[in-house]
Amino acid sequence: MNKQLLFVKRPTGKAEADTWNLVENPIPEIGDGDILIKQHYISLDPAMRGWMNNAKSYIAPMEIGSVMRAGSVGEVVRSNNKKFKVGDFVAGTGGVQQYTATDGQGYYPVDPKLAPLPTYIGTLGMTGMTAYFGITEVGQIKAGDVVLVSGAAGAVGSVVGQVAKIKGCTVVGIAGGAEKCAYVVNELGFDACIDYKNENVASRFKEECPKGIDVYFDNVGGDILDIALTRLKRHARIVICGAISQYNNKTAVKGPSNYLALLVSRATMQGMVVFDYADRYKEGAMQLGAWMAQGKLKSKEAVYEGIENFPQTFDRLFSGEKLGKLVLKVIED
Ligand code: NAP
Repeated sequence: MNKQLLFVKRPTGKAEADTWNLVENPIPEIGDGDILIKQHYISLDPAMRGWMNNAKSYIAPMEIGSVMRAGSVGEVVRSNNKKFKVGDFVAGTGGVQQYTATDGQGYYPVDPKLAPLPTYIGTLGMTGMTAYFGITEVGQIKAGDVVLVSGAAGAVGSVVGQVAKIKGCTVVGIAGGAEKCAYVVNELGFDACIDYKNENVASRFKEECPKGIDVYFDNVGGDILDIALTRLKRHARIVICGAISQYNNKTAVKGPSNYLALLVSRATMQGMVVFDYADRYKEGAMQLGAWMAQGKLKSKEAVYEGIENFPQTFDRLFSGEKLGKLVLKVIED
């Protein structure tokens, strides 16, 4: 049988357990040109909360009754498609289910001998591509820049900061709690980390970035973005990657009241969507993989188990109770 998590109710505010319904259906048959994938891991992403809204975005909203959309990695167990053979491992958007039948469009091969499977939906997958292209192409970092990164202990932020360090920048992270901040500095090699849950962010920005910042990579939006705007150097770049502090809002998104700092600093604030770099993912993965092999880049995944535990695992994105890329193992051994 195939356990599947269906999206059954659009949430207002935080997604509660009744947003989804776990069902069991027969493992699908495959047609001509199709493959059957036994999914091992699925990716949990803050963006999933946005996909639940019936609103215009960079991707169509999820339909009620559909399998919950998710990135995934798994093994081809049946194939009627010459491009894939049984035993291949592939990554794609297979959804929160144990098996998926597909014509293979959007799936690409991965090698579990080179890296553990969860890494292919983390640092070597969409998450890593967001970080790499976001900070290099949109952030336009160069050696000597002062770079500020929020969500610094998370999937994207941890890679952003490490890439900026590799490129010769001074990097200050922002994360929730002393333990995460210690991890960001001691394990990931950031120069400093501000604990936004327990410290005064505005005064700590002044201490850690006395001359201001060249680049702010924003994963959280809200008050932290507003404070960062007050610390810009001339021609600073702000990369709008995400705004997790706003995703569960029942009221309007809180926009930055300090936006005129962009004028004063001749700065730019630019949004980015990782899909725009799809034709360069190979280049990004090769570079990140090379840095991992050289011991310059650490990849961390927080792997939880059990498709039935999806709702409480998803909550961890918002409570922050996890370190690195959040992954759920959906296959039963
Ligand atoms: P993540 O950082 O691994 O997990 C989310 C983290 O956000 C949590 O661990 C938590 O860390 C922090 N957080 C939660 N609520 C917060 C709040 N109210 N204020 C401040 N921090 C809060 O997630 P991710 O996958 O790497 O995604 C990070 C951001 O990138 C998200 O905004 C996501 O939507 C965005 N993203 C954008 C693209 C794109 O193409 N634009 C692609 C992927 C991801 P603490 O414990 O430190 O609070």
